[in-house]
Amino acid sequence: MHIGLVSNAQQPARLTNKFFPDLGVSFNTPAFDSKHGFTNYKELISFLEAITNKSDYAQLQYLGETQRGKKIPYVSISKPGSERKLRIWMQGGIHGNEPASSEGMLAVLQDLLTDDTYTYLFDKLDIIIVPMVNIDGYMRQNRRAKNDLDLNRDLIKLQIPEIQQLRATYVKYSPHVSVDFHEYNPFRAAFRQFGSMGYASFYDAMFLYSGELNVEPKIRELTENLFVKNAKDKFSEGDFNYHDYFSPRDNLGKLYFNVGSTSARSSATSFALGNSISILMEIRGIQLNRNSFERRVFITHTAAFSYLQTAYDNHKKVWEGVEEAIQSTISRNREVIVKSEKANKELPIKFIDIGENEAVENVFPVASSKEMQAVISRERPLAYLLPPDQTQAVKNLTILGVKVDTLTTNKNFEVESYQVKAQEIEPSKYQGYFPNNVSTRVSKIEKKFPQGTYIIRLDQKNANLAVTALEPENDNSFVRVRVIEACKGQEIPIYRLMKTEGGQNL
Ligand SMILES: [Zn+2]
Repeated sequence: MHIGLVSNAQQPARLTNKFFPDLGVSFNTPAFDSKHGFTNYKELISFLEAITNKSDYAQLQYLGETQRGKKIPYVSISKPGSERKLRIWMQGGIHGNEPASSEGMLAVLQDLLTDDTYTYLFDKLDIIIVPMVNIDGYMRQNRRAKNDLDLNRDLIKLQIPEIQQLRATYVKYSPHVSVDFHEYNPFRAAFRQFGSMGYASFYDAMFLYSGELNVEPKIRELTENLFVKNAKDKFSEGDFNYHDYFSPRDNLGKLYFNVGSTSARSSATSFALGNSISILMEIRGIQLNRNSFERRVFITHTAAFSYLQTAYDNHKKVWEGVEEAIQSTISRNREVIVKSEKANKELPIKFIDIGENEAVENVFPVASSKEMQAVISRERPLAYLLPPDQTQAVKNLTILGVKVDTLTTNKNFEVESYQVKAQEIEPSKYQGYFPNNVSTRVSKIEKKFPQGTYIIRLDQKNANLAVTALEPENDNSFVRVRVIEACKGQEIPIYRLMKTEGGQNL
């Protein structure tokens, strides 16, 4: 019993045959037992039970339950040993209509757990794989969760149970390397204006890694120059075409492309802000149903093993690099970047002219997140203080892995406070809320803080997540996503503690 098809594939066979032919690889995961449909829940669980039973090092565990009450499985692989292991996290199916991501994770797990040629990896790596995050969506081949929200836009607001469970489990493992597998839609409406029958995307895969300026430079360097570079080399060897991630945008009828991403509400940046090397993979697949499915799963599998091999081969460099990044965060040397701007550039991008069945290259305007410029920056505080009633903010910070202390007595502090100068509540809902855009004036005040005030110190590993959530003007701040309310003319209940008197403890 497989999941049925949702719609017919749009891709002409001549295009598939010329640009995305099958590779003659055979996989033994559940979906490949049939020519149609995808792995269903029962098949998923029995497959995972069978392969974990065959391994001495694997454990089948559960993140929690979906909104429809299905347990969300993950597999952790750890071989006992004294050496300090790198922890590698991989996930698929956070979007329910991107099946090669989940099937690819199953193929990777099958090889890791049933083929002895891969067990050497466990000497240096602990591996955690969540093959299907959004099970409810997957069973309907629908991108979203049961409550119609997008899981990969919820990593700050944290209103979806599946994401709360995923992020909490993620924090428990505190991975050195994190990879989130997706598929992308090669037939976007914006491409229909070109050629006689429109354009289709040319690239087998796209690489997304965060350009957020609060991400530690060492993390960005290892991500791009080591992990992504090696995976790109691997793709070149296999004759697969790739590009850095781009998505079409419309500016008053003129098409341009966003390149990269900086959104802390999405996985790649959320993980990178927590000092993990972090990559999001987009494989060419949405709307293709079973077209090129073996190829899509193979590319997912190739990328996954490239990242595992890179971690294995560079164990010391990665361990020390991530440690250096964490120490840099803890030492609080850098300014806080509150708001930043993308760089406007032009970039050649290849497409397939569907009518001609030929590859074409055009130059397009792009807004690049790979070279962000800071617009507002502030001195990094010692800590942020939140009043005792800000329990939702504290709950979210805790899920994100930020340690929160509380004040044990009433205390006076000189702090910086935010006054809302201007406010614009957006007229349409995003993920079920109306975003609140504010600009503020920061001024020094003397304030009495009651016992129970929350203290978020910034000398901790995940401090850059707190910075993003708590600086009000940030695109993904708690104020903007309505976790903390703020109104024009009023003080925001977030305070910046810059120093303590005579260096006394908080
Ligand atoms: Zn996706």
